[in-house]
Amino acid sequence: MLMEQQRQQIVAYGLRMIRSGLTTGSGGNLSLLSAEDNLIAISPSGMDYSDVTVADIVIIDRAGQTVEGERRPSSESGFHLALYAARKDINAIVHTHSVYATTLACLHWELPPVHYLVAFSGDKVPLAPYATFGSEELADNIIASIGSYNAVLLANHGLVAVGKDIKSSFNVAEEVELVARIYCQAKSLGQPVLVDAEEMVRVTEKFGSYGQQD
Ligand code: 13P
Ligand code: ZN
Repeated sequence: MLMEQQRQQIVAYGLRMIRSGLTTGSGGNLSLLSAEDNLIAISPSGMDYSDVTVADIVIIDRAGQTVEGERRPSSESGFHLALYAARKDINAIVHTHSVYATTLACLHWELPPVHYLVAFSGDKVPLAPYATFGSEELADNIIASIGSYNAVLLANHGLVAVGKDIKSSFNVAEEVELVARIYCQAKSLGQPVLVDAEEMVRVTEKFGSYGQQD
């Protein structure tokens, strides 16, 4: 079986997406790139995460052709492939419909630096214009909007988070959801005070040396 370790990670993080409330049912999707094999492991389309086993994960090439697997790959394979082609620094993608991030996306708002933790994405989370799920237009809009950020809101849809591995991408998705929630709450009580640009540069630098550095 190809990419067994990556298959296991997709199953495990799919369950985490559900448990942590980042998505519901079969919403969202996950993928991992193996630079070594030049192949992508991606979640199957339309399956509840609680039903997905390693055998259900689909292995596709960079053109989207199935190399191994019986299931249909995620309907969003197009934007996953476009992201791996555009961003050489990433090996994992997490797409969610998390409620607070999606609330902002339904207002067609970006997420500004209302809390320093937005640095998991960059100095904000940009917004990609609306396009139908699974469409080439959606992939184009994501590529045009994400730049070097680690997250992008999808108008009237959800969130995409990227990273060097699945742990980082999932972490970005969780932290962006937290900041989006804080922003929604702060906005409902008054006018949030944003972290200034200079401070966001300092925080971003500090993030580079934060934690256990494994
Ligand atoms: P898939 O089940 O095909 O991955 O689609 C879910 C989704 O979130 C579409 O944007
Ligand atoms: Zn979606």
